[in-house]
Parts: sequence; structure tokens; C-alpha cells
Amino acid sequence: MTTVHEPAVTTAADALSVWPASAVEPREGELTVGGVPLAEVADRFGTPVYVIDEDEVRERCRTYRHAFPDAEVLYAAKAFLCRAMIHWVDEEGLGLDVCSAGELELAVTTGFPPERIVLHGNAKSPRDLDTALRLGVGRIVIDSPSEIARLAAAVGPDGHQKVMVRVVPGISAGGHEKIRTGTEDQKFGLSIPDGYAQHAIARILDQPQLELTGLHCHLGSQITSVKPYLAAVRRMVGLMARLHEQHGLVLRELDLGGGHGIAYRPGEPALDLTALARKVRAELTEACTAAGLTVPRLIIEPGRAIAGPAGIALYHVLSVKRTGAHTYVAVDGGMSDNPRPALYGVRYAPRLVGRHSIAAPAPVTVVGRHCEAGDIVAADVELPDDIRPGDLLAVPAAGAYHLSMASGYNLVGRPPVVAVDDGRARLLIRRESLEDIRSRDVGL
Ligand SMILES: *Cc1c(COP(=O)(O)O)cnc(C)c1O
Repeated sequence: MTTVHEPAVTTAADALSVWPASAVEPREGELTVGGVPLAEVADRFGTPVYVIDEDEVRERCRTYRHAFPDAEVLYAAKAFLCRAMIHWVDEEGLGLDVCSAGELELAVTTGFPPERIVLHGNAKSPRDLDTALRLGVGRIVIDSPSEIARLAAAVGPDGHQKVMVRVVPGISAGGHEKIRTGTEDQKFGLSIPDGYAQHAIARILDQPQLELTGLHCHLGSQITSVKPYLAAVRRMVGLMARLHEQHGLVLRELDLGGGHGIAYRPGEPALDLTALARKVRAELTEACTAAGLTVPRLIIEPGRAIAGPAGIALYHVLSVKRTGAHTYVAVDGGMSDNPRPALYGVRYAPRLVGRHSIAAPAPVTVVGRHCEAGDIVAADVELPDDIRPGDLLAVPAAGAYHLSMASGYNLVGRPPVVAVDDGRARLLIRRESLEDIRSRDVGL
């Protein structure tokens, strides 16, 4: 995951470069992940189904711990969360970054230590804050001026809560306009040029029950270059220096958020974590030394880069339609389990699995089964020309922001999640049934 793939000729070897490290093709047309043939998972659990490679998740957690040995690494739960994931992240020594009472409560009731959890969110509900205080969450990231008084009141005069402040670093980075959160004109954070951030910080310092441990920023998502992170370090240290001057404030932590980009298709670049770690550390030390500040402890919050490459979506082909210019391959899932193509126009590289085809590759668009023309699974990809109903398609890099953004559209029910590890497959989340849906529908 730390290598940058230059867009170049695709060889047989890097055809599996965006798959979990355990992915192998023991026979042509067969693909196993975590020692389990994907066709077997589809047979046993039905489709659509999401497969998650436990070892890939753990290995990615370890890669972060090794690359950032002095930093606190928090897994951003919103990428994908279930109880098994909470256990794996805990066992690998990461903290957790949550953005709702739901994510927080699932984690704590699964046994995750609350002091290693950070709660953020641009609009925290009273329930979010009450749950955070009741469960003893480690830190709360303040994202608006009104939150300060609300939080101070909820904590009470004798209480104590560690907080950070989310600052807008004024940097544009990220894979798509809708996932850029470091620029001035969007809903997250408090900006520096208009004085909002400094004003909020002064108000927090007036609340003795709130302990400001550091600044937080998050530039956006699917960032594949180190540069914006270095620019963020300089901006944040600049603000820390001014706060030190004005208030004598010494901040122990600096949270640079997540956003680390991954390759969705062979040949696409991924963020180089080793370079990120080395350059951020150097930049931070240099900027702090120049400003006469103690170097704060770094916090990072990767979500996608931990869960994304560990997940695979499996679908059966339901129909193949050849129109004038296009061939549409329709599968039994779509925007209800993966809204990302409709939201951000992202691209994937699906593969035919479970059957060996000798047909030549042909350009097709893989679409979903939902009642929207924008319900696309993978636009303009190549699949064998003899692709037909009943075939099994596997979409790699499907572990982040698919199921966590899944919807109930068309009442098809959300797919199950199956973990594979060491030749075994086990169900983590069962398929949503009509009975699940009907049981919420309590009026008539
Ligand atoms: C979404 C989010 C993350 C994780 O982003 P990825 O792109 O999945 O790494 C981290 N921190 C904050 C504050 C976020 O909102």
C-alpha cells in the first residue's frame, strides 16, 4: 500500500495490485482471498455479498503503527464499522475516530476503551454529546462556536473533558470536490483568516472544565500526495505559535486527520505512507523548532486506507443488454450498497470470477439493479465478451464507504458481510431481510 504505482502498462502481476495481499488465482478463472474461493463465498452466502479480509485489515493497521511509531493512529470508523472490525482495530493498538452516538456506543459496548476514542462532527446532536460524556470519550473535537457553551454546560462546573478544535487549514486537496474539507468555503471547522478559530480557542480557555489538548484538521479524502499535509503542518504550527504568544498556550497534540488515498484500479497512485510519515515528522520538527514550540504528538485518522483495500463486493450478473454504442451488464446490487459512483463518479475494476473465459475483453458498463439511470457499479471497463447472466463479478477495493453509506433504496435489503481468514469464511453481518424492514414499519 505504500508504493506509488505509475500509470503504465498493466501486466498480469499487477492485475491483482488493488486486491488484498492474500488474493491468488490458483487456477485460471478461480480467485481466492484469505484462502477462500470467492465463488464459494457467493454460493454459501448468496449475492450481493461483501467479503472482508481480516488479515489485510490487521496488516494495514500494523503498517500504520510501524510507519508512525510515535503517533497516535485512530481508525476512522465511518469508513466501515462492525463489531469484528472494532476488535481488530483494538487488538492492533489503534484508537478510534467516531462521528455519532451510534458509532461511539457500538464501539464502547463491544469493549473498545472509551479513552482511546475521539468524537468529531460538524453538528453534534444533544444525544451525541450526552453519549460521549456518559461513556467517557477521550476527546471531543469542537467544530462550531455554539458547541463550546453547550459542551461546558453538559460537562458541568465540576466535570472535566479533553477537547480539540477543528481548524480549517485553507488547503484544497482530495479526490473530488464533495470530499474536500480543508478549504475555506465548506461546512467543517473554524477558519483562521476571519479569526473564528482564535476566538473559539479563547472561549474554550475561559472554560476551566474543558482542557484543550490540541488542534485538529482534516483536509479531505482520497489524497494521493504528501504535499498538502506538509502545508497543513505549516499552517497549524503557525496558529500554534500565535496562540502561544497570545495566551502562553502549549498544545500537546496535533491531529492531521485522515484522507490517505488508495488505488481503486491497477495503475492508480496510492498515498505513500512511509514518505508521509518521514516528511510530516521532519516538517513538524522544523516548523516547531523555528517557532520555539515543543513538538506536539501527532495524531492521524485513516479510514479508507485501512478498510478500503480489504473489502470485495461480489455480485451475480442478472442481464446483459447490448444497445447501439454500449453493453450494459446489470448485477444484483448497485447504488444501495455502493453509492460512490453516483455521488463522486468513482471508477472500479471488476473481474469475472468463478469461470474461466477465453473470450476477448470487450468494453462494458456494469450497472446496478436500482431504478436510477445513475445507478452505475463500474463505468467503461473491460470484461470478457461472452459475459452472461449467472456470471459472478468481484469488485476490489470495496471495503470503505460502501456499506457504511448503504441505503434502503428499493427495499432490496443491505448485503451481508463475510470475513475471510486462513481458509475460513464467517458471517459478520447477516443480510437485511424483509422481516427486518417490516419490523420497523410500525404504523398502518
Ligand atoms: C472521514 C474522516 C476521516 C477519514 O478519512 P479517510 O479518507 O477515510 O481516511 C478522518 N478524520 C475525519 C475528521 C474525517 O471526517
